[in-house]
Amino acid sequence: TYIVNDACIGCKYTDCVEVCPVDCFYEGENMLVIHPDECIDCGVCEPECPADAIRPDTEPEAEKWVEFNRKYSEMW
Ligand code: SF4
Repeated sequence: TYIVNDACIGCKYTDCVEVCPVDCFYEGENMLVIHPDECIDCGVCEPECPADAIRPDTEPEAEKWVEFNRKYSEMW
């Protein structure tokens, strides 16, 4: 799965949302998040993010963001 990290905070672009084929972006409190179970790992959103906030969860520091993304995806 891919996740969104804190570089997204304050970003007003939603290019990622527009390209996601499965619509798995959700609004968190002040940033977007990806539902980790809905993401199909296609990777098309990653280069669209101007803040470089979308990372694959295979990166060591992305791992801790998975539960955060899940929590805020399911909050509303
Ligand atoms: Fe959506 Fe693909 Fe990005 Fe996952 S990797 S959030 S499925 S665009």
